[in-house]
Parts: sequence; C-alpha cells; structure tokens
Amino acid sequence: MTLKAGWAATQYSFLVEKELSPHARAAALEIDKCTSCGLCKVVCPVFDLSHREAESPRGKINLLRALLEEKLDPAEGSVDVFNRCLLCYACQDACPAGVLTERVWIAAREILADEVGRPFAKSMLLRRVLPQPRLVSLAVSLGRRAPGSDQVVRLRGMTLPRPASNRLDRLLPEVLEPEGRLAGTVALFPGCLISEVFPHLGLRAAQLLAALGYRVVTPRDRVCCGAPAFNNGDLGTGRRLAEKNLELFNQLDVECVLSPDATCGGAFTHEYDMLFPAGSQWRSAYQLFRDRVLDFGEFLEKALDGQVDLRFQPLPYRLTVHDSCHLNHLQHKAQVPRRLVQRIPGLQISENSESDLCCGFGGSYSVMFPNESRAISRRKLDALRQAAGMVMVGSPGCLWKLRSEAALLGLDLRLVHYAELLWESLLGGPPAATSAGGEKPGAEAVSP
Ligand code: SF4
Ligand code: SF4
Repeated sequence: MTLKAGWAATQYSFLVEKELSPHARAAALEIDKCTSCGLCKVVCPVFDLSHREAESPRGKINLLRALLEEKLDPAEGSVDVFNRCLLCYACQDACPAGVLTERVWIAAREILADEVGRPFAKSMLLRRVLPQPRLVSLAVSLGRRAPGSDQVVRLRGMTLPRPASNRLDRLLPEVLEPEGRLAGTVALFPGCLISEVFPHLGLRAAQLLAALGYRVVTPRDRVCCGAPAFNNGDLGTGRRLAEKNLELFNQLDVECVLSPDATCGGAFTHEYDMLFPAGSQWRSAYQLFRDRVLDFGEFLEKALDGQVDLRFQPLPYRLTVHDSCHLNHLQHKAQVPRRLVQRIPGLQISENSESDLCCGFGGSYSVMFPNESRAISRRKLDALRQAAGMVMVGSPGCLWKLRSEAALLGLDLRLVHYAELLWESLLGGPPAATSAGGEKPGAEAVSP
C-alpha cells in the first residue's frame, strides 16, 4: 500500500476514496470517530510515564491521521511512536466515542512497516522462526542454558524467567483421557509461552479439565496463534499462522477450543476477526472456529457448576489480582478468575489500587524499551505487594514479566495463574516451592 492518496478531508470524515488495505481502511474508520477529547490519555501507562502528547493514544491517532492525509511523511520517528505502545487497550475501554484502538495500532504498525521497512532481525524472527514450532523450541532450549540463577536467565542485558526443563508436549499426551464419566471432548490451545516456558501451567490446566470429565486434545501440530507477528505489523505472517490453526482445529471433533493464555484467547476473538473480515476467503473457516472458542475460565465455571465429585480443599491464602490486559480490556472477563477462586474455602482476595494497570510486558515493547517497561512493572509491583504476598494473573505473559521484575528486586511475592490455584485446591497436595519458571519439582508426565 502506498500512502499517496488523493483523500478529500472534511471536518468529520477524511475517509473518502483510497486504495487502502482492509486493515488501513478499518483503522481510518476508527480514527474518524475520534473527537480528540483526551480521556484515553488518563489511562495510558506509556503517556503516564513520558507525559509526551505524541506517545498518548490521542497523539498516535492524530499522527496516523496526518500520515494518511499525507501531511507527514512516514519516517523512523513515526515507527518509534507506534512501537511505544503496550497494546494493553486501556485506551479502548476508556474512549467515550467507541474508537476501537485494537483496529488502529496494529494497522498503523503494518502501514509503517510497509513504508519504512522492517528491521532484518525482527523480520527473520517473525517470518522464519515463529511459524516453525521446532525452531521456537530450539530458541527456548538455548535460552534454558543461558547464564543466571535457578530462577532467571540473563540474556543481552535482559533478566527473564528461566524456562522449565521440559516442554509441555513431553509432559502432556496429545489426548488426555478424563477421569470418570466422559462429559465431553475439548481442544486445549496452550500458546507458545505455556508450551515452552511454563509447561506445568498447561499440564495443570489439562488435568483440571480431565478431572471435570473432559477428554483433552492438545494437537501436536498447533502453531503460534500469530499474536507476536500481527502485533508487530506483520499481518501476512500472522494470517498464515492463523490459517494453519483454523485448518487444524476445525477438523477436530471437539465441542470447544480453550486457551489459558488470555493473549491467545484475545487473538482468536478479536484480532482474527480483523484478519479475516466479512467477505474474505477464510471468513467462513474463521466463523466455524470462532463459534467453538470459549473463555477458559468461563468454561471451568460452567463445568464446576455441574460436577459433584470434586471438593475444593481450603487454601489459607490472601491474594491480590493483576487483571491481565487481554482478559480485561480486550475480552472484558476480568471478573471470571475472581469468581472462580472465590469458590476456594479460606482464600481471600485483597483488591489493589492498580489491578487494571498493564504489567509492562507488551511483547516487543519490553525488548525495545526495557527501561520504560521496567518502570511500569515496578509501579505495578508496588501496588501489588502493598495488597498481598500472592498475586493471581490470567496470562503467562504477565507471569513472565512480573516474575522477572520481582526476581530482580528480590521480592518475596508468589505469582500464579488462576488455573494453578484451582488445581492446587481441587487436585494438589500441599504447595511445593516453585521456581521462577513456576515448575513444581518433580512435575511428572501423565499417561495418555
Ligand atoms: S478517548 Fe477516544 S475520542 Fe477521546 S481522544 Fe481518545 S480516542 Fe479520541
Ligand atoms: S494500548 Fe495501552 S499503551 Fe497503547 S496507547 Fe492504548 S493505553 Fe496506551
């Protein structure tokens, strides 16, 4: 796509006629709704840090508008501005005009990457490594050997949780049979972080489903949901990965597809909708897939309501909650993990003042802007640790980021996914010490 346009800008509608990609057109329609009220700035963690209008959601919208109207030339500086965004979508929730920033930020990154070019290393990583699970796995296994401590590895100036010693596919069979009477068959989409870095979490999620009577199919041929690609403006790679997943999961004889990773769940329900718009070749395949995607937590709620054999054992924990952004601002399901763990006797939730603040991860944001990412994480951790010594999250990306920063600060803070708490109360024994990767010592494989 070129930005050369011949747009006729009016006060309220600058989108008149233009050879735009469908995503750029969708972004332009969203921009057109913006009244420049600035309410989105109040909730933006990036703006809160820099106080630069250009880095605020409103500033970015005005920049994209100027680029599309050809009042500015695309330049490296514009790329930098759009990269300075966590894709947390707090701005979308705050916008009274209903601007869907989920349709703007990704399209802006694509438009600018097409105009200015993509960094070679990032492009190779997204186009060559990400689509091949074996290469992703190889990269993680190299990371496992990086220097550091039992809990963290140190790589190119970054401190990251040490990946667990086993991949999920070595711990969990492709088909895990249920315990007791068969209630149904479900597909599990663990996502790359759970598959490679936090396999115990995927194992616990599958064991929970099996204990509730479900046969759990975790296809070996799955690929990344595509979020790292399309979130970095590489919609071509993102779409190819999404198509592979649609083909694979649509041919499974399962009643639903579940992911304990809120980013993958958000991708399936939001970004895939953008990748496969009405009228496109893959739309019907997407609709078939979309009809079967359910929120992992909501599915657990319904399954728990119907079961009589399992009993929640008391857990004497006081915990606070980090609302993972893609569960909260994208899917609006932040209350689901709270409702689930409130079933556990003895467990108390102590709310904190920043529960809906982003953890500072933002995927590539934390790599490109480590200082800013760290500052946001530390603001978050300050609020969390004042409320409780245990934190519940809904996404492995948040576990990754907050555990890294907590380890760097030497904080005595236990960070867990809500599925781990449910597993511990329903199926586990007394809690064992966890490593930063969260793997319980002796996390054993289960038989098919
Ligand atoms: S809150 Fe919405 S309408 Fe107001 S400036 Fe932000 S994007 Fe525009
Ligand atoms: S998605 Fe988050 S970081 Fe990005 S502009 Fe919106 S509020 Fe700011």
